[in-house]
Amino acid sequence: MTSAFPPPSSLESRISQLLADPVYDGHPLRQALEDLWETHRDLDRRLDRIARVSDAFQSMARERELGLQERMERDLRRLEKLARISDRYQSMMRDLNVALTEASTHDSLTRLPNRRLLTDRLKAEAERADRYDRSFTVVMIDIDHFKRINDACGHDVGDSVLIELAHAMGAELRDQDCAGRWGGEEFVLLLPETPLDAAVQVVERVRDRLNRVRVPYPHPTGSVTASAGLAEHIPGTPVTATLTRADTALLTAKRNGRDRIERAGADTPADLAVPFPSEA
Ligand code: GH3
Ligand code: MG
Ligand code: MG
Repeated sequence: MTSAFPPPSSLESRISQLLADPVYDGHPLRQALEDLWETHRDLDRRLDRIARVSDAFQSMARERELGLQERMERDLRRLEKLARISDRYQSMMRDLNVALTEASTHDSLTRLPNRRLLTDRLKAEAERADRYDRSFTVVMIDIDHFKRINDACGHDVGDSVLIELAHAMGAELRDQDCAGRWGGEEFVLLLPETPLDAAVQVVERVRDRLNRVRVPYPHPTGSVTASAGLAEHIPGTPVTATLTRADTALLTAKRNGRDRIERAGADTPADLAVPFPSEA
C-alpha cells in the first residue's frame, strides 16, 4: 500500500527547492511557507532533543533498576546465609538442650535414670496409683561386696562391671518399668501395676541375670550377687515412705546373709531418712 503522504525526506527537499526557486520571490505564500518551514524545523529539533532526553532517562532508569536488582539479590543471598547460620545455631542449641537434659537426669556411667529422675517418676507413679487406686512396687537393689571387685580388679573394672549390671537389669524389665542408679552400687526399680508377689518374681529374674555377669580374675568368685528390698506402695502414703520401707527390707536382706530378697510389710518402719535429691 502506498502512503498518502510523501516520505519526509522528499517533502523536505521539495520545500527546500520551492523556497530556493527565484520564480516564487515576492509570492505572498513564500514568506508563510518559509515561516512554516522554520517552525517545523524548530519543532523537529525540539522533538529530537526530547527523544534524546527520554532515551537517556530510560537508560538511566534501566541501570538503576539493574543496580537495585543486584542489591536485592545480594541482600537475599545474605539473608539466606543468615537463615542457614541461624538454623545451624538452633539445631546446636536443641542438641545441647537434649544433652543437658540427659546429663541432669541420667547417670553418666551407666546411662540409667539418676536419683533425680527416679524421684520424679516415683512421685508421678504414686499420684497416679493414688488417683486410680492402683498398686506399684519399689525395689532397692544393692550389689553384694562390690568393694571386693574394686579391691581385686581395680576401679576401672568395677566401673565396667557396673555398666554391665545396669544393662543386665534393664534387659529383664518391661517397657513400663524403670530401673535407675540410686547411687554407688545401689539401684532402684519402679514396677508400675505390680503387686508385691508379682514383683518378687521380677526381682528374682533380675537377680539371676545380674548373677550371670562375669567379673574377671583375680576376683574371688568371678560373679556377683545382689540383695533386694521390696515395698508395695500403700495408697495415700508418701512415696518417700515406700522407699524407706524398701530400704529397711534391703538392710534386713543384708543382715540375713545377702544374696536374697526381703519384702516390706505394711508395718515395716517408714521413718528412716531416704533423702530425695532436693532434700539431700
Ligand atoms: P555390701 O554387701 O555390704 O553392700 O558390701 P559392698 O562392698 O557392696 O558395700 P560398701 O558400701 O562397703 O562398698 C560399696 C563399694 O562400691 C565401695 C565403692 O567404692 C564402690 N563404688 C560405688 N560407686 C562406684 C563406681 O561408680 N565405680 C566403682 N568402680 N565403684 C563404685
Ligand atoms: Mg553393696
Ligand atoms: Mg551400697
